[in-house]
Amino acid sequence: MWMHYKSTRNSGLRLPASQVIAQGISQEGGLFVPESLPQVREKLPLWKEMDYRGLAKAVFAEFLTDFSEEEISQCVERAYAPDKFEGGEPVKLVPLTDSKYLLELWHGPTCAFKDMALQILPHFLTKSLEKSAQGKEAVILVATSGDTGKAALEGFKDVPGTRILVFYPRDGVSPMQKRQMVTQEGENVGVCAIEGNFDDAQTAVKAIFTDPGMKRALAEKGMMFSSANSINWGRLLPQIVYYFYSYLELVRRGRVHSLEEPINIVVPTGNFGNILAAYYASRMGLPVKKFICASNRNKVLTDFIRTGVYDRRREFYATSSPSMDILISSNLERLLYALSGEDSRALAGWMEDLKEKGVYDVGPQVREKVQGLFYGGFCDDEGTARTVKRTWEQEGYLCDTHTAVALDVYRQYTEETGDGDTPAVIASTASPYKFVGHVLGALEPLGEEDEFESLHRLEALTRTQAPGQLVSLRGKEPRFTQVTPKEQTAAFVRRALGLS
Ligand SMILES: *Cc1c(COP(=O)(O)O)cnc(C)c1O
Repeated sequence: MWMHYKSTRNSGLRLPASQVIAQGISQEGGLFVPESLPQVREKLPLWKEMDYRGLAKAVFAEFLTDFSEEEISQCVERAYAPDKFEGGEPVKLVPLTDSKYLLELWHGPTCAFKDMALQILPHFLTKSLEKSAQGKEAVILVATSGDTGKAALEGFKDVPGTRILVFYPRDGVSPMQKRQMVTQEGENVGVCAIEGNFDDAQTAVKAIFTDPGMKRALAEKGMMFSSANSINWGRLLPQIVYYFYSYLELVRRGRVHSLEEPINIVVPTGNFGNILAAYYASRMGLPVKKFICASNRNKVLTDFIRTGVYDRRREFYATSSPSMDILISSNLERLLYALSGEDSRALAGWMEDLKEKGVYDVGPQVREKVQGLFYGGFCDDEGTARTVKRTWEQEGYLCDTHTAVALDVYRQYTEETGDGDTPAVIASTASPYKFVGHVLGALEPLGEEDEFESLHRLEALTRTQAPGQLVSLRGKEPRFTQVTPKEQTAAFVRRALGLS
């Protein structure tokens, strides 16, 4: 069957996957969604026999119907090559108790779950450009607060037909994240610090995207801008795979006894991308009882799930789980589109309210649907540190701060509902060593030490091993030391691309 895509703010569109991936976002500002979700219940017995790469190919074939089997296979083999994911399967399912499983998504090159999507997006994108944009060279501009920038750099590094430029706020990323970016290898990459905060970086990049003069100059050189942002369908799709994988792994291990038995899924959430992929998997036929949405102190989603009112008019907190420090969860738009009966007019109205007033109310009908599917909870920094410590001391598992937020909200859920026997898959989104300061600090007092001293202290204390990709950063020479005032970002892009 041929799969087309429409927009959350224009149900009349019908576009092929390649165009949706190349374009990133719909012209009227909506997000691309599949026109229907493939029903795969009957394929699960077959999928159960597949390894991760085989399963990924099967899932992608359902959605990328304008890609050949050969093209999909190439994308998967290149993206999830064993040497990029510490050998073996790209993800690991680790039991903590008989019903609590951690789905480790951070064995890729940058030690955070964003690798699962950003390792394969460049391959999807270059194939899409061949199909829908006559093989133009893609220029990826990224404004990052940390994890996305590095994962995108690693994904696009030396991919033919692409260039990537990443901008990060000079004072807004962790020392380890900065080190990861400024030492980046690859011939087609560029990194620049911006004087200002993340919003300044994002605003500067957005202005370049929409500058007609810049667009013309690019076109003359046979280039076009594209996006590696989490609203790109090409970033969401790869995340559907690991929810099927973890479920089928529980079946293989005999913990789930039939292909009808449901599980709970727990996700530490920021932009609502990762948990939305789980929702799509369930709409395709994966049996899920409850989606447990875990937030940090920026608990705009917890409040939304509990009240039906999305209100971003609140203080922003910098927390120990910085990749979830976000007040506008862009991918929620896709969920609300589905739950409102694909009412693109209602959607456009709510998003307009969000932009103009900073708040919207989805009303009782949609609210009840949200509450039927989702449980929302949050955990502050103190609870996060306590959970890191308790999980290490009582369960022998060293988790990062984002994963700790999920573990604590899952605890709240089981205490509140008594539903502790349903097998739960908890997304573990980063290596504890990526946020080593906060993790070590939860176990022992921190002294005057740099991130590598903390890293070795954490290794000695827990007798675990830091990922080689982080350890080796110490000896790497910085390649990108440029800092630019935000007003000069466009000039930087012109110089980097050799535009007039
Ligand atoms: C990006 C990120 C998240 C949040 O994922 P969303 O898809 O934005 O909800 C959670 N944990 C880590 C480590 C991340 O990098």
